[in-house]
Amino acid sequence: MATKKKTPRGQVPSLIGGSNGRPKQVEVKRSCFCYRCNSTISAGTKCIEIPKLGTGFASARRVCDDCFQAIVEKTYKDLQEIQGFLATKAQ
Ligand SMILES: [Zn+2]
Repeated sequence: MATKKKTPRGQVPSLIGGSNGRPKQVEVKRSCFCYRCNSTISAGTKCIEIPKLGTGFASARRVCDDCFQAIVEKTYKDLQEIQGFLATKAQ
């Protein structure tokens, strides 16, 4: 008995997620520090906030532009690796 292919329902899940929430850009009201490199993120600027999920309370970590750039590059590299799975299947 073959299982019938079904149409996926709901939102398409993104691999960007999991224990880290989706990063968002926030306005910095009070200067704070980048959680990775400790550089100052000044008040009045914009920075990237990465929500940390599953901790029971809403907490978010802020990163400076340089660190966020590195995170994005790493994510992109990971993504390319995952895309490679599809490429090998097609052969
Ligand atoms: Zn940083």
